[in-house]
Amino acid sequence: ETKAEFMRVLVTGGSGLLGKAIEQVVKQEGGCLEGEQWTFLSSKEANLVDLQQTRAVFQKYRPTHVIHLAAKVGGLYLHMKENLHFLVILCSDQCKKPEWIFNCSNQNMIVCVCVDFTDYRGYFAQHGRRYTAVIPTNVYGPYDNFNFENGHVLSALMHKTYAAKKEGTPLQVWGSGTPRRQFIYSLDVARLFLWVLREYDEIDPIILSVGEEEELPIKDAVEMIADALDFKGQIVFDTSKSDGQIKKTASNTKLRRYLPDFTFTPLSEGIKKTCDWFVHNYDIAR
Ligand code: GDP
Repeated sequence: ETKAEFMRVLVTGGSGLLGKAIEQVVKQEGGCLEGEQWTFLSSKEANLVDLQQTRAVFQKYRPTHVIHLAAKVGGLYLHMKENLHFLVILCSDQCKKPEWIFNCSNQNMIVCVCVDFTDYRGYFAQHGRRYTAVIPTNVYGPYDNFNFENGHVLSALMHKTYAAKKEGTPLQVWGSGTPRRQFIYSLDVARLFLWVLREYDEIDPIILSVGEEEELPIKDAVEMIADALDFKGQIVFDTSKSDGQIKKTASNTKLRRYLPDFTFTPLSEGIKKTCDWFVHNYDIAR
């Protein structure tokens, strides 16, 4: 039996930014090989903070591989998030041979690395299971959270630009616009996830990122958003708001060693696609 013949992949957080991107790559880009079964789990189907429900899900789908994306985003719910990881790991012990991919956002990297890594190194040693973590930099794309207050920078600013255009008001960007970020399109992350699942054998995490030279100031991204949404109004930088980290440069040397030819979606193209998605899905967007 080859690997492909018995892969049953369970994706938790299946209705979020990355879950939806993986679903698209699997269902529309031929990412699913013959004989594979993919399940995209949403919080509607099971509450993964509840042990019984988590067990039931694992009994129902008996996954051989788990891509664990379900999480409360943000520091406030950290304890809840750890509990969620814990229950999912615990229940996976009922399955014969689950392989694992955790998603750690760059923002949470230190927390995830400190908390989870010792855990799943232990799991690997004790149970012979394979766990790894991927660490994407700032991800954006369709199905992101576009909320004014809570969204990440690109999605929040897409929504603000859309609203400013409609109302004929200036666009308010928070902070000076000078901090730099490495943005990665969710569909690129999804394609890389499939590669990690099939090919990446290390326990050590891997950073999924564009090159360091592509780290660009927020204000450049704002111009791309304004172009994509055809916003011609005034752009104001509200420097009373915090800038956050001035840069968060991550190296993609390791990724490039494995995949020298991987083509990242250019930022302007990814922004255009995400803006188009947002405009067409305004009613369902978060
Ligand atoms: P970070 O990479 O963890 O800092 O996460 P964000 O995606 O929230 O990016 C924050 C950066 O974008 C800061 O430099 C903010 O000043 C800037 N920014 C500008 N406008 C906005 C906005 O409307 N929402 C957010 N979240 N950040 C904004």
